[in-house]
Amino acid sequence: MIDLHCHTLHSDGTDSSEALAMLGDRAQLTALCLTDHDTLGGIPAFLATQPRVKTQLLVGTELSCHFLGRSLHVLGLLVNPADARFQARLVEVRGRRDDRNRRMLTRLAELGYPISYEEVQAQAGTPLLSRVHFAMALAARGFVRRAPEAFERLIGDDCPGFVPRQELSPSEAACWIREAGGVPVVAHPGRFDGGGFRWDEAMADLQRQGLEGLEGFYGEYRASEQKYFVALAARLGMVVTGGSDYHGTHKPGLRLGRGRGGLQVPDDLLDRLEIQQRLGSYR
Ligand code: AMP
Ligand code: MN
Ligand code: MN
Ligand code: MN
Repeated sequence: MIDLHCHTLHSDGTDSSEALAMLGDRAQLTALCLTDHDTLGGIPAFLATQPRVKTQLLVGTELSCHFLGRSLHVLGLLVNPADARFQARLVEVRGRRDDRNRRMLTRLAELGYPISYEEVQAQAGTPLLSRVHFAMALAARGFVRRAPEAFERLIGDDCPGFVPRQELSPSEAACWIREAGGVPVVAHPGRFDGGGFRWDEAMADLQRQGLEGLEGFYGEYRASEQKYFVALAARLGMVVTGGSDYHGTHKPGLRLGRGRGGLQVPDDLLDRLEIQQRLGSYR
């Protein structure tokens, strides 16, 4: 069993890199790939844990793109974390995130929910601030009872306090990831779904834009979704990957390796990721 999608407190998860690696080992995972949003910050401590665990520790990132008027997530699995150009590109992405965050504070204040940058920062373990930390800051102030209510009323994608950030195009993300030696993968396509949307043509479009894989196994898929996306990847000749999208206590009940309970990502998916060749080319 493997897990190729998870987060630490370097983005919007709650575990340290070390704790995540140990958790993967306890779950007896063959391989575990760390994929924090927009940052490689958790990677050094994660890889430093390798001598203490049997699980093969792999690294990547998760980027947000603009596609068909909405946000599409792209995993960059097995990127070279020492690639200076890729690091610089992520600095730029985090700058855009920070701009968005500051505009969102202004927007929330206009709506009658004034919170400060420092209050949001106090909810995060690292400098990367995510809407998860906004939700907790709004709850800490008593503007909402609990964090999920903040997403329902204020900062969810369709809510008045949400400010979108300037996102990459899928082709740009795919290009960056490939240039850093990684595999660009469409993350949780099932979560992008909405009334009547069919993936067949859209996925072929993304494949033409350079996306090589799709997440066929996912912590929150129904059995029918898994079947559909694994079959779609086979039809298009795309690589299938899978992971839980574990976020620690920010996604209660979602377990590393197991998702909501039924997840089991097969080891043999690793074969098409050509791990040894990739690691050999940059380690
Ligand atoms: P950001 O990248 O700062 O825009 O924040 C996105 C993160 O917020 C996602 O990765 C989720 O962890 C979380 N999130 C977004 N929408 C929701 C929602 N409706 N309910 C709970 N968490 C959400
Ligand atoms: Mn997240
Ligand atoms: Mn995602
Ligand atoms: Mn994720």
